[in-house]
Amino acid sequence: MAVATSSIDKTDEQKAITEMVRQFADEQILPNAEHYDHEDSFPEPIVEQMRELGLFGTTIPEEYGGMGLDLTTYAMIVEELSRGWISISGIVNTHFIGSYLLMKFGSDEQRQKYLPRMATGELRAAFSLSEPELGSDVQAIKTAARKDGDHYVIDGQKMWVTNGLRAGLVFVLVKTDPTADPRYKGMTCFIAEKEPGVHENTGDYAGFNVPPQLKKMGYKGVESTELVFDGYRTPADSILGGEDAGLNKGFGQMMDALEVGRVNVAARGVGIAQRALELALRYSQERKTFGRTISNHQAIQFKLADMATQVEAARLMTIRAARLKDAGERSDLEAGMAKLFASEAGRFCVEESFRIHGGYGYSKEYEIERLYRDAPLLLIGEGTSEIQRMVIGKKLLERHKI
Ligand SMILES: Cc1cc2nc3c(=O)[nH]c(=O)nc-3n(C[C@H](O)[C@H](O)[C@H](O)COP(=O)(O)OP(=O)(O)OC[C@H]3O[C@@H](n4cnc5c(N)ncnc54)[C@H](O)[C@@H]3O)c2cc1C
Repeated sequence: MAVATSSIDKTDEQKAITEMVRQFADEQILPNAEHYDHEDSFPEPIVEQMRELGLFGTTIPEEYGGMGLDLTTYAMIVEELSRGWISISGIVNTHFIGSYLLMKFGSDEQRQKYLPRMATGELRAAFSLSEPELGSDVQAIKTAARKDGDHYVIDGQKMWVTNGLRAGLVFVLVKTDPTADPRYKGMTCFIAEKEPGVHENTGDYAGFNVPPQLKKMGYKGVESTELVFDGYRTPADSILGGEDAGLNKGFGQMMDALEVGRVNVAARGVGIAQRALELALRYSQERKTFGRTISNHQAIQFKLADMATQVEAARLMTIRAARLKDAGERSDLEAGMAKLFASEAGRFCVEESFRIHGGYGYSKEYEIERLYRDAPLLLIGEGTSEIQRMVIGKKLLERHKI
C-alpha cells in the first residue's frame, strides 16, 4: 500500500524523478530486500539498475555527466530509496558526500579526474572519520599522515566505513599536524584511492587494507568495514583541494559535508517512517480481534495518527533544511533539527508499527522485522541524537546571543 507523500510542493521535474524512484523501489527494491537482508549480501543487480537510472550522479553537475540536481531533489530521492530499504540509500549516501566534497572543495584537476566516473557509479566513494576509539569526538582522531618527499605516508585505523570495501575512493580525515592547538587545525582530508573490492591492496595502493566486513544487527547488504593504513603512500596532490589549499583544512571541510549528510540521514528517517506507516495501515485493516479489524480500535487509530503526524513533520523539516541549503542560506541548525527529529521519527514509527503487528512483527515473515533492525542506525550515523542536541543548542545560542 503506497501512501501519497503529497505534503511537499514539488516541481514537475521533482515529481517525475520521485515517481520514477518510487516505482523503482516498489518493483525492484521492496520485493528483493528480504533476500539480500537475510543473506547479508550486496544487492549487485539493484545497484546496476541504479547506475542505469543515473542515481550515483544525482547532484553531480551535468558538465561532469551527472544530473545536476539540488539537495532538495536529492533528499526526495533518498526518502524513496529508504522507503524501499535503507541499505540501498546507504550505497549512494557516502558516495554523495564524497561528490559534495569534491564539488565544493576539490581542485579542478580532482573534479575532472573523479567526478565523471563517479557520476556513472563506475567509481564509488566512501567517507571516513570514525576510528575504533572515537566517533562523536572527531578531534580525537589518531590516524596520521607524515610528509615524505612529494608523498604523504598514512598510518592508523579507521572504523565503521560504509562502502569501505567496494569504494575506489575514500575521503579520509587524518592528522597532519600533531602539535596543532586547537586540534582541528591540524587535520587534512585525503582522497585515498584503492582497488574496489580488494581486501589487501598492492602496488600503488600497498598499505591500504580492508579487514572483513563488520557483522551488524541490521543495515545489511551494504558493507561496513574497518580500514587499516600501514605505510600507505599517497601523493601530496591527493589532499582535497590540493596541498596549498587543503593542508590542515580537513576538519572544516568534513564538518561542512556532515551538514548535508544530516539532511541525507533525515531523509532516510522519513523514508523508513513512511514505510512503517504504510505497513501499519495495511496490517491494521487486515487483522481482526474481538470481532472487528484492529483499525477500528481507537488505541490503534491513535498510534496511526501519531505516526502520520511524525512522518509529516519530519518530511517538512527535512525539505526545509534542504531548501535553505540550496538557497545558500545558513542551515546548520535546521539540518541538525531535521536529523534529530526525522531519525527519532523513524525509530518511533517503526516501533509503533511493530506493536500494531503484534506477534507477527517478531516474525521474519513480515517486513517490519527488518525495519526494526534497520531504524536504530539512523540514531547514530552522522552524529547521534545526543550530538545533534549539542549542535542545536550551540547554534541556537550563537544565533540568539544577548
Ligand atoms: C552501520 C554504521 C555505519 C557507519 N558509517 C560510517 C561512515 O561511513 N563513516 C564514518 O566516519 N563513520 C561511520 N559510522 C560511525 C558513526 O558515525 C559513529 O558510530 C557515531 O558518530 C558515534 O560514535 P561512537 O560509535 O564512537 O560513539 P561514542 O562517540 O563513543 O558515543 C557513545 C555514546 O555517548 C554519547 N556521547 C558522546 N559524547 C557525548 C557528549 N559530549 N555528551 C553527551 N553524550 C555523548 C553518544 O551520543 C552515544 O550515546 C557508522 C556507524 C555505524 C553503526
